[in-house]
Amino acid sequence: MNCGVEKYTQAAHMNLGKGQGIKASDAALAALCCDRPGMRGCHALLDQGGIFTKAERRAFELEMVAKTYIALMERGLLKVSREVS
Ligand SMILES: [Zn+2]
Repeated sequence: MNCGVEKYTQAAHMNLGKGQGIKASDAALAALCCDRPGMRGCHALLDQGGIFTKAERRAFELEMVAKTYIALMERGLLKVSREVS
């Protein structure tokens, strides 16, 4: 969702709500690329790169999660159902 590369996708957990014994939510995921020969992936750069301030990182994570969910819905891989009674 960040650089556009395909076939190297990992599920990156957003760090919102993490800490104090609380694990990151499995619902807050972003599709980011993994490391591959000769290149660091977006997932590793986000987690270990030290390239963002805390605020920048938070904004980046939110954007990537939103883009992931939008892409999944647009491809028909995630559907929102609504029950009407
Ligand atoms: Zn990437």
